[in-house]
Amino acid sequence: MSVFPEARFLTSANTAAQFVPDVGSELAFAGRSNAGKSSAINTIVHRNQFARISKTPGRTQLVNFFVLDKEQRIVDLPGYGYAKVSTKMQNHWKSLMENYFSARQSLAGMFLIVDVRRGFGEFDEQMLAFGEALGITTHVLLTKADKMKRGPAAAQYQKTRAHLVGRATVQLFSSHNRQGLDEARGRLRELLDRHTN
Ligand code: GDP
Repeated sequence: MSVFPEARFLTSANTAAQFVPDVGSELAFAGRSNAGKSSAINTIVHRNQFARISKTPGRTQLVNFFVLDKEQRIVDLPGYGYAKVSTKMQNHWKSLMENYFSARQSLAGMFLIVDVRRGFGEFDEQMLAFGEALGITTHVLLTKADKMKRGPAAAQYQKTRAHLVGRATVQLFSSHNRQGLDEARGRLRELLDRHTN
Protein backbone atom coordinates (compact mmCIF):
# COMPACT_ATOMS: atom_id res chain seq x y z
CA MET A 1 0.00 0.00 0.00
CA SER A 2 1.38 3.39 -0.96
CA VAL A 3 1.59 5.98 1.79
CA PHE A 4 0.56 8.52 -0.82
CA PRO A 5 -2.06 6.65 -2.87
CA GLU A 6 -2.96 9.74 -4.90
CA ALA A 7 0.64 10.51 -5.84
CA ARG A 8 1.28 11.10 -9.53
CA PHE A 9 3.50 12.98 -11.96
CA LEU A 10 2.19 16.41 -12.98
CA THR A 11 4.58 18.07 -15.41
CA SER A 12 8.15 19.03 -16.25
CA ALA A 13 9.19 22.65 -16.56
CA ASN A 14 12.10 24.30 -18.29
CA THR A 15 10.98 27.88 -17.66
CA ALA A 16 9.11 29.65 -14.87
CA ALA A 17 6.08 29.98 -17.14
CA GLN A 18 5.77 26.19 -17.16
CA PHE A 19 5.67 25.82 -13.36
CA VAL A 20 2.38 24.48 -11.99
CA PRO A 21 0.02 26.99 -10.27
CA ASP A 22 1.58 28.31 -7.08
CA VAL A 23 -1.07 27.14 -4.60
CA GLY A 24 -0.90 24.84 -1.60
CA SER A 25 2.50 23.62 -0.44
CA GLU A 26 5.44 21.88 -2.04
CA LEU A 27 8.71 20.40 -0.90
CA ALA A 28 11.75 20.65 -3.19
CA PHE A 29 14.29 17.82 -3.52
CA ALA A 30 17.76 18.94 -4.52
CA GLY A 31 21.08 17.16 -4.81
CA ARG A 32 24.22 16.53 -6.77
CA SER A 33 23.76 14.22 -9.77
CA ASN A 34 23.98 10.60 -8.67
CA ALA A 35 23.61 11.47 -4.97
CA GLY A 36 20.54 9.20 -4.79
CA LYS A 37 17.78 11.82 -5.14
CA SER A 38 15.46 9.81 -7.40
CA SER A 39 15.87 6.73 -5.23
CA ALA A 40 15.10 8.76 -2.11
CA ILE A 41 11.94 10.22 -3.67
CA ASN A 42 10.76 6.77 -4.73
CA THR A 43 11.44 5.28 -1.33
CA ILE A 44 9.76 8.09 0.59
CA VAL A 45 6.71 8.25 -1.69
CA HIS A 46 6.78 4.50 -2.27
CA ARG A 47 6.34 4.88 -6.01
CA ASN A 48 8.85 3.20 -8.27
CA GLN A 49 7.82 4.91 -11.45
CA PHE A 50 8.70 8.39 -10.14
CA ALA A 51 12.43 7.89 -10.66
CA ARG A 52 11.89 6.66 -14.17
CA ILE A 53 9.92 9.79 -15.03
CA SER A 54 12.58 12.18 -13.74
CA LYS A 55 15.28 10.06 -15.37
CA THR A 56 13.71 10.08 -18.82
CA PRO A 57 16.18 11.57 -21.32
CA GLY A 58 15.56 15.28 -21.50
CA ARG A 59 13.91 15.47 -18.10
CA THR A 60 16.98 15.28 -15.87
CA GLN A 61 17.66 18.98 -16.37
CA LEU A 62 14.05 20.03 -15.81
CA VAL A 63 11.98 20.87 -12.75
CA ASN A 64 9.66 17.88 -12.29
CA PHE A 65 6.43 18.36 -10.33
CA PHE A 66 4.56 15.52 -8.61
CA VAL A 67 1.32 15.80 -6.68
CA LEU A 68 1.26 13.88 -3.40
CA ASP A 69 -2.15 14.63 -2.06
CA LYS A 70 -4.60 17.39 -3.01
CA GLU A 71 -2.56 20.60 -2.92
CA GLN A 72 0.66 19.09 -1.60
CA ARG A 73 3.49 18.43 -4.04
CA ILE A 74 7.08 17.40 -4.27
CA VAL A 75 9.37 19.01 -6.80
CA ASP A 76 12.38 17.18 -8.17
CA LEU A 77 14.95 19.87 -9.00
CA PRO A 78 17.61 19.12 -11.63
CA GLY A 79 20.78 17.51 -10.26
CA TYR A 80 23.95 19.59 -10.20
CA GLY A 81 27.70 19.16 -10.11
CA TYR A 82 27.81 17.02 -13.22
CA ALA A 83 31.26 17.64 -14.71
CA LYS A 84 30.32 17.29 -18.37
CA VAL A 85 27.64 19.99 -18.39
CA SER A 86 28.42 22.94 -20.69
CA THR A 87 28.67 26.52 -19.44
CA LYS A 88 25.45 27.28 -21.32
CA MET A 89 23.64 24.49 -19.43
CA GLN A 90 25.15 25.65 -16.13
CA ASN A 91 23.88 29.17 -16.73
CA HIS A 92 20.47 27.84 -17.67
CA TRP A 93 20.41 25.71 -14.48
CA LYS A 94 21.33 28.73 -12.37
CA SER A 95 18.66 30.98 -13.84
CA LEU A 96 16.04 28.20 -13.62
CA MET A 97 16.89 27.74 -9.93
CA GLU A 98 16.80 31.48 -9.29
CA ASN A 99 13.41 31.67 -10.97
CA TYR A 100 12.15 28.70 -9.01
CA PHE A 101 13.33 29.92 -5.61
CA SER A 102 12.19 33.48 -6.16
CA ALA A 103 8.77 32.59 -7.52
CA ARG A 104 7.27 29.91 -5.30
CA GLN A 105 5.09 31.07 -2.43
CA SER A 106 4.09 27.44 -1.96
CA LEU A 107 7.66 26.32 -1.24
CA ALA A 108 7.47 24.76 2.22
CA GLY A 109 10.98 23.42 2.56
CA MET A 110 13.79 21.56 0.90
CA PHE A 111 15.26 18.09 1.19
CA LEU A 112 18.91 18.21 0.23
CA ILE A 113 20.22 14.80 -0.82
CA VAL A 114 23.91 14.20 -0.07
CA ASP A 115 25.87 10.99 -0.60
CA VAL A 116 27.12 10.18 2.91
CA ARG A 117 30.48 9.03 1.54
CA ARG A 118 31.05 12.32 -0.27
CA GLY A 119 29.78 14.62 2.45
CA PHE A 120 28.31 18.12 2.26
CA GLY A 121 30.07 20.04 -0.52
CA GLU A 122 30.34 23.36 -2.26
CA PHE A 123 27.36 22.81 -4.60
CA ASP A 124 25.21 21.69 -1.67
CA GLU A 125 26.19 24.88 0.10
CA GLN A 126 24.92 26.86 -2.89
CA MET A 127 21.53 25.08 -2.74
CA LEU A 128 21.29 25.62 1.00
CA ALA A 129 21.94 29.32 0.40
CA PHE A 130 18.97 29.48 -2.02
CA GLY A 131 16.75 28.12 0.75
CA GLU A 132 18.24 30.34 3.44
CA ALA A 133 17.64 33.45 1.35
CA LEU A 134 13.92 32.60 1.50
CA GLY A 135 13.91 31.53 5.11
CA ILE A 136 12.76 28.02 4.25
CA THR A 137 13.75 24.97 6.27
CA THR A 138 16.27 22.54 4.75
CA HIS A 139 16.58 18.94 5.85
CA VAL A 140 19.67 17.03 4.69
CA LEU A 141 19.43 13.33 3.89
CA LEU A 142 22.85 11.71 4.12
CA THR A 143 21.93 8.89 1.82
CA LYS A 144 23.49 5.54 0.82
CA ALA A 145 24.16 5.04 4.55
CA ASP A 146 24.08 1.27 3.87
CA LYS A 147 27.35 1.68 1.97
CA MET A 148 29.21 2.74 5.11
CA LYS A 149 29.90 0.89 8.35
CA ARG A 150 27.86 2.10 11.27
CA GLY A 151 30.74 3.89 13.05
CA PRO A 152 31.99 5.97 10.10
CA ALA A 153 28.37 6.75 9.09
CA ALA A 154 27.63 8.02 12.61
CA ALA A 155 30.83 10.09 12.52
CA GLN A 156 29.85 11.63 9.18
CA TYR A 157 26.40 12.42 10.58
CA GLN A 158 27.90 14.17 13.65
CA LYS A 159 30.35 16.10 11.51
CA THR A 160 27.65 17.28 9.09
CA ARG A 161 25.29 18.14 11.91
CA ALA A 162 27.97 20.25 13.61
CA HIS A 163 28.81 21.95 10.30
CA LEU A 164 25.17 22.85 9.62
CA VAL A 165 24.02 23.61 13.13
CA GLY A 166 21.30 26.28 13.14
CA ARG A 167 21.06 26.14 9.33
CA ALA A 168 19.66 22.70 8.47
CA THR A 169 18.63 19.48 10.15
CA VAL A 170 20.40 16.26 9.16
CA GLN A 171 19.70 12.53 9.18
CA LEU A 172 21.18 9.31 7.85
CA PHE A 173 19.13 7.62 5.13
CA SER A 174 19.25 4.61 2.84
CA SER A 175 16.93 3.80 -0.04
CA HIS A 176 18.34 0.30 -0.12
CA ASN A 177 17.65 -0.79 3.46
CA ARG A 178 15.14 1.95 4.35
CA GLN A 179 17.19 3.30 7.21
CA GLY A 180 15.73 6.63 8.34
CA LEU A 181 12.57 6.26 6.26
CA ASP A 182 10.10 7.04 9.07
CA GLU A 183 12.07 10.10 10.08
CA ALA A 184 12.21 11.36 6.49
CA ARG A 185 8.49 10.82 5.94
CA GLY A 186 7.72 12.53 9.23
CA ARG A 187 9.81 15.54 8.31
CA LEU A 188 8.21 15.76 4.85
CA ARG A 189 4.69 15.70 6.33
CA GLU A 190 5.63 18.21 9.00
CA LEU A 191 7.09 20.70 6.52
CA LEU A 192 4.19 20.38 4.08
CA ASP A 193 1.48 20.50 6.74
CA ARG A 194 2.79 23.52 8.60
CA HIS A 195 3.02 25.63 5.45
CA THR A 196 -0.12 27.50 4.54
CA ASN A 197 -0.25 29.44 1.34
P1 GDP B 1 20.14 10.78 -8.61
O1 GDP B 1 20.97 11.04 -9.82
O2 GDP B 1 20.54 11.67 -7.47
O3 GDP B 1 18.66 10.80 -8.84
O4 GDP B 1 20.56 9.31 -8.10
P2 GDP B 1 19.84 7.89 -8.22
O5 GDP B 1 18.70 7.78 -7.26
O6 GDP B 1 19.56 7.60 -9.65
O7 GDP B 1 20.99 6.94 -7.66
C1 GDP B 1 22.29 6.92 -8.24
C2 GDP B 1 22.91 5.54 -7.99
O8 GDP B 1 23.06 5.32 -6.60
C3 GDP B 1 22.05 4.39 -8.50
O9 GDP B 1 22.92 3.40 -9.00
C4 GDP B 1 21.32 3.90 -7.26
O10 GDP B 1 20.98 2.52 -7.32
C5 GDP B 1 22.34 4.16 -6.18
N1 GDP B 1 21.69 4.44 -4.88
C6 GDP B 1 20.76 5.38 -4.64
N2 GDP B 1 20.39 5.37 -3.35
C7 GDP B 1 21.10 4.39 -2.74
C8 GDP B 1 21.18 3.88 -1.40
O11 GDP B 1 20.51 4.33 -0.47
N3 GDP B 1 22.06 2.86 -1.19
C9 GDP B 1 22.86 2.34 -2.16
N4 GDP B 1 23.68 1.35 -1.84
N5 GDP B 1 22.81 2.79 -3.43
C10 GDP B 1 21.95 3.80 -3.73
